[in-house]
Amino acid sequence: MQENIISEETVNEGGLNFVEQEIKNDLEAGKNGGRLNTRFPPEPNGYLHIGHAKAFIMDFGAAEKFGGTCNLRFDDTNPQKEDTEYVEAIKEDIHWLGYDWEDRLYYASDYFPKLYDLAVRMIKEGKAYVDEQTSEEIAAQKGSPTVPGTHSPYRNRPVEENLDLFERMNKGEFDEGSMVLRAKIDMASDNMHFRDPIMYRIIKTPHWRTGNTWNVYPMYDFAHGQSDYFEGVTHSICTLEFVPHRPLYEWFVKELADESYCPRQIEFNRLNLTYTVMSKRKLLQLVKEGLVAGWDDPRMPTLRGLRRRGYTPSSIKDFVNRIGYTKYEALNHIELLEHSVREDLNKTATRVSVVQNPVKLILENYPEGKTEMMQMENNPENPAEGTHDMPFTRELWIEREDFMENPPKKFFRLSPDKEVRLKGAYIIKCTGVKKDENGDIVEIYATYDPDTKSGMPGSDRKVKGTLHWVSVPTATQAEIRDYDRLFAVENPSAEEGDFRELLNPESLKIRENAMIEPWLAERIQAGDHYQFQRLGYYVVDKDTTPEKPVFNKTVGLKDSWAKIMKK
Ligand code: ATP
Ligand code: MG
Repeated sequence: MQENIISEETVNEGGLNFVEQEIKNDLEAGKNGGRLNTRFPPEPNGYLHIGHAKAFIMDFGAAEKFGGTCNLRFDDTNPQKEDTEYVEAIKEDIHWLGYDWEDRLYYASDYFPKLYDLAVRMIKEGKAYVDEQTSEEIAAQKGSPTVPGTHSPYRNRPVEENLDLFERMNKGEFDEGSMVLRAKIDMASDNMHFRDPIMYRIIKTPHWRTGNTWNVYPMYDFAHGQSDYFEGVTHSICTLEFVPHRPLYEWFVKELADESYCPRQIEFNRLNLTYTVMSKRKLLQLVKEGLVAGWDDPRMPTLRGLRRRGYTPSSIKDFVNRIGYTKYEALNHIELLEHSVREDLNKTATRVSVVQNPVKLILENYPEGKTEMMQMENNPENPAEGTHDMPFTRELWIEREDFMENPPKKFFRLSPDKEVRLKGAYIIKCTGVKKDENGDIVEIYATYDPDTKSGMPGSDRKVKGTLHWVSVPTATQAEIRDYDRLFAVENPSAEEGDFRELLNPESLKIRENAMIEPWLAERIQAGDHYQFQRLGYYVVDKDTTPEKPVFNKTVGLKDSWAKIMKK
C-alpha cells in the first residue's frame, strides 16, 4: 500500500482505462473468436460495498462498452459463512447501480460435480494426493520465497489409496481438518502458490443450495478459473492481490482448456477509502456487535449504507470513473466521493427550508394572524423546476447559531441592532432578546422593513447576511440524523490494535426538533433527496412517518475536495 494518498483524480478523458485497452486489443486480435464475456463473482458472505461496486462497474461496464456480456456468479464455495440473505441483497444492489446479468446468473456450486470429476481425474493422473497432516504441519513445510518447501510424507501415496480416501472424505467419513486434497506441483517453486496448493477441504456444514450432497468443498484457486472456463468467460477481471495467483489460475485452467479458448485474468487496484474499512470481516463485526445499526447504517461503506445516506447511483459511478483503474494500490479521499454526490444533487435536489436547531424570532411590527405566501425557488440550477409557496408570519424559527449577542467582527448574521435578510422575504433588524432563568436565549425580537420584500420594486437594499427560516404556526417537527465519518482516523486499516477503538464517537448526532416548512411536510417520501437551504443535502430515511419525518444528512454544502486539490 502506498503511504501517501493519491490526491489527483485519474479521469479517463473519453479514453479507455488499461483493462479496457487490453480487452480491445484481444478483441481486435480475434482472440476467443472475438467474443467478450466478463463476470462478477461475489462470495455471498456479506453485503456489497463501494469497493465491490468499483469491481462490477468494470465487469458490467466493459461488457456494455464493447457489446459483450457479463455473468453474475455467486462464488458459494464455503457453506460456513454464506447465506441466501446475502444473495438477494447482492442482486438488489447491482440492480440499484443499473446493471443486469439477464439470464446469466450462475453459482460456483453448480460446478461441484464437474470440479469433483476433474479432481478425480487429476488423482488418477498422479497430479493430486490426499494429505493427512494438520494445517500447521502443512504450513511449516511450505518454506519461504527463498527457502524451498519440504515434501509431505503422504505425497507419494498410491493412486488407488488417494481415490479411496478422497471418495470417503466426500462421503463424510472423516472429520473436518483431518485431511485435504492437494495438487502435486512443485514444493520448490518460486511462486508459493505452486507449492502443492490445497484443492479440497472437508466442511460438514450443510450448503444453502446443495444441502448435504458434499462434504468436500473446492478452494478458491481450484474453483475460480475452472468456473470461468465452464461459463465461457473470456476476461476474468479481479483485484491486484490475485496477481500471484494468476500462474496457478492458468495452470488449473490448462487441465481443461485447449488452444481455441482460454479465459484471461487481468488485475486492477482495489478501492480503499479514507475514514472507513472495506474488509467484509470487519464490517460484519461492526454489524454483529451492534456498533452500527446494520448493514444499511448510513455510515457504512456498503451500497445499502450509501443509498440510505443519500448517495445516488450516478454519484458512485462518477466517483469510480474519476479515481480510475490502475496497477498500483492507493488510498482514495472520501472527500472526492462527497464531491461527486454534491455535484449530482446540486443539479437535481429540490431546495427547501428547514431549521435544524430552532430558536423563535418574533417580528414585533408584523401583524398577528397575518400570513403572506413567499415564492421560493425549487432549484436555481434549473429554473424549469419552478417555485413553491412558503408562509411568512409574525413568529418564525431561525437557527440558534445564526444569532450572537456579542458577535466577533466578521459575523454577518443576526445580532442586536444589526440587519439581515430573511431569504425570499424581508430585511429585519434585531431589537432585543428574552432569556430564561439560566441566561439562555428563548426568544429573539426584531422589526421588519415592509419596503424590502424580495422581488418587489425598490426592494433591493443590500445587507450582508441572509438567513433561512420557517414559519412557526405551520412548521412540522422532524428528526435529523447528522452523520459524520465512521472512523476518527484517516486509514484505520493501517493502524495497530483493535480497529473498533478507532471508531468516531461523534459519527451520529440526532437533532430531534428540527422544523420543516409545510410544503416539504406534505410530500415526504422515503428516499427523496432535498437541499436544505444553507445546511446541505438530505435524504428522507426509511424510518420516516407522517407524524415524525426523519432525514439523513448526506453531505454538507462546503466542498472540502476543492480545498484538498489546492494543497
Ligand atoms: P473476501 O475477503 O470475503 O474474499 P472480498 O471483498 O474480496 O472479500 P468477494 O465477494 O470475493 O469479496 O469480492 C467480489 C469481487 O469484488 C472480487 O473480484 C474482488 O476482487 C472485488 N473487490 C472486493 N473488494 C474490492 C475493493 N475494495 N475494490 C475493488 N474491488 C474489490
Ligand atoms: Mg474475495
